[in-house]
Amino acid sequence: MTNRVVLIGHPVAHSFSGGMQQAAFDALGIDARYELWDRRPLDLADAVAELRGDDFLGANITIPHKEHVVPLVDKLTEEAQAIGAVNVIARDGKRLIGHNTDVAGFKSALDKLVGRQKMPRYAVVLGAGGAARAVVYALITDGFQRVVVFNRHLHRAEGMVRHFGKSASHMDLRAMPWHESVLEAELLKTKLLVNASSIGLVTNETPIPAELLPPDLMVMDLVYNPSQSQLLKDAAAARCTVMNGEHMLLQQGARSFELWTGKPAPLDVMQAELDRAREQGLRQMPVDTGSTAVPPVDLAADPPAPRG
Ligand code: NAP
Repeated sequence: MTNRVVLIGHPVAHSFSGGMQQAAFDALGIDARYELWDRRPLDLADAVAELRGDDFLGANITIPHKEHVVPLVDKLTEEAQAIGAVNVIARDGKRLIGHNTDVAGFKSALDKLVGRQKMPRYAVVLGAGGAARAVVYALITDGFQRVVVFNRHLHRAEGMVRHFGKSASHMDLRAMPWHESVLEAELLKTKLLVNASSIGLVTNETPIPAELLPPDLMVMDLVYNPSQSQLLKDAAAARCTVMNGEHMLLQQGARSFELWTGKPAPLDVMQAELDRAREQGLRQMPVDTGSTAVPPVDLAADPPAPRG
């Protein structure tokens, strides 16, 4: 029986996970197929229920489902529970376990971005979805002293700050309204800017006007496709140190692979596939859109109500 692993999201066609994970299965001779499932929020529960079939090893969960999938699994790891978001589902017998490997992926990327410089203690984070939760949790547990979150819908950022109330009681974690003057003032105080919003994922928009970017900032954009988003182009032009989301993708993906297969991930194979995809354009994997037609995604539309 060929085993199956799926990426559940909306949209999914931009993702490099399919090529990267399939290359890893093939290299290790694992009889498994990685599928891209484009599922709208209303279809999420059915998609997760399907994972209970014997042929499934598990799933990756992506935009916009990482928080909404939390009540649909049987058990959460301590970390996924603390974050309130799941990006990997793996099986433990019949049970579906929700994990979060974005945190380890982000921490590895942050270490690489900072390099030999001193680890900053103050960060500005854009976004308040599933990825932003993992980023903020990583910064809290890495000893940051002040983290300011900006999000299009302020109430969602405020909900995230409330969620982390206890674990962040030793530091200053706050949500601020996304106004240019407020953002500009915070960017002048910080050394690290992380874009964990979806801005730049399907359009070439940037979350921050170029003129607001001070020099010498470290800027990480979780978006990896295109490899240099407009934000990173502007930041590089302003002499900032920049990094896209590819290293995080690789590191979270390697940990996902290990959870599904129990085998060490072939990092070199996965990186080679990412290099190939970046250079030649995305390998077009078939996207399963489910039983109903999926309309073009409108990332600017209101998201489903977030958990507080
Ligand atoms: P999500 O839960 O759907 O959250 C999306 C976030 O983007 C929300 O904060 C949302 O703001 C904001 N947003 C979306 N469209 C916007 C717009 N037009 N203007 C302003 N804000 C907008 O998604 P997610 O799972 O957190 O993913 C966020 C991004 O991180 C995606 O680009 C994803 O590909 C990337 N990511 C990369 C990696 C990696 O390994 N490199 C891992 C995880 C995620 P509202 O709350 O106001 O709607």
